[in-house]
Amino acid sequence: MPAKRDYYEVLGVSRDASLEEIKRAYRRLAKKHHPDRNKDNPKEAEAKFIEVSEAYEVLSDPEKRQRYDTFGHAGVASDFGPGGFDFFRNFTHFDDIRDLFSDLLGFGGFETGTIFERLFNFGRRSRGWGEEPSWRSAPRRGADLGYNLEIELEDVLTGLEKEIEYYTRVKCEECDGTGAKSKDDIVQCPTCHGTGQIRQERRTPFGYVATVSTCNQCGGTGQQIKKKCSVCKGEGVVPKPRKIKIKIPPGVETGHSLKVRRGGEAGEAGAEPGDLYVNIQVRPHKLFKRYNSHIILEKELDFTQAALGDEIEVPTLDGVAKLKIPKGTQPGTIFRLKKKGLNPLGGGKRGDMHVVVNIKVPEKLTKEQEELLRKFAELSK
Ligand SMILES: [Zn+2]
Ligand SMILES: [Zn+2]
Repeated sequence: MPAKRDYYEVLGVSRDASLEEIKRAYRRLAKKHHPDRNKDNPKEAEAKFIEVSEAYEVLSDPEKRQRYDTFGHAGVASDFGPGGFDFFRNFTHFDDIRDLFSDLLGFGGFETGTIFERLFNFGRRSRGWGEEPSWRSAPRRGADLGYNLEIELEDVLTGLEKEIEYYTRVKCEECDGTGAKSKDDIVQCPTCHGTGQIRQERRTPFGYVATVSTCNQCGGTGQQIKKKCSVCKGEGVVPKPRKIKIKIPPGVETGHSLKVRRGGEAGEAGAEPGDLYVNIQVRPHKLFKRYNSHIILEKELDFTQAALGDEIEVPTLDGVAKLKIPKGTQPGTIFRLKKKGLNPLGGGKRGDMHVVVNIKVPEKLTKEQEELLRKFAELSK
């Protein structure tokens, strides 16, 4: 494997670049590596696009950037899991991408299977059923779908197996995906005589110039359907609910997407189905805050507990734990409960729980309490 390039070098920014500069550099480079501008070598463009996206993923996150600055690539490797950075699993800025390429969305025509095509199908996942399919001469891979799944912090600890149900488009059984009422209803397109292309010659001062374009009549398929299938109205696919079991690994974060291969819509005329992307959203927890694989709990102590010491019980993600409060504990002290945090994505050591203590001062005192405290104040002088 070739050595990984320095992220700053990849984005062409200095080590003290501001977030704004990093964003600008990413926008410029991501557009530069768009396949429409790199028709000779879309694979290389895709590789470059992924490289700049990985650099952006790390440098746009202050915490990841800090770790990268300190430990280099090793500092962020555990964020990406065993296979390294995976665009669809680890990239958290899909909205940036959508913004970035929104002006290019109309063009379409991406190389089938490139990351850009998947990206744009992903971006268009909310497409309605009634919309006209876009025409292609080759059977088109099915669209990718997105599914938003909310999970609890407890699920992040253990991982989760869950059945989800969603609507997708599957091959129409009635017509076997052809869109025609019967086999005899599929005939050669009379406009292009089955070639799917229209050749036009124009006379110019330099002689005849021929242009070839896709046949409008059949959309390049070279076929015409005389009678459409009544079930799918000629589309070859029908909406249908689908249930699948998915496995969510421990350690996922909001913004992660899990790819379910072939979980998307059926392809045209038997082409590959698309994929399903399960977008994870972790619900905020009522007690715990999360910091990567660590969790943070704020706990209030009475000032007497803090001054005299105590043994208290604190909630954790998996049951109650005992915590010893030493005498003279100060407000803001952080106690660490080892391995009571979360399991990191892709395996590794379980994180810790940090208990931050706040000290409660009583708002009301009984007469006796007040007397004792006054005495205490006397003695402290
Ligand atoms: Zn035609
Ligand atoms: Zn049908």
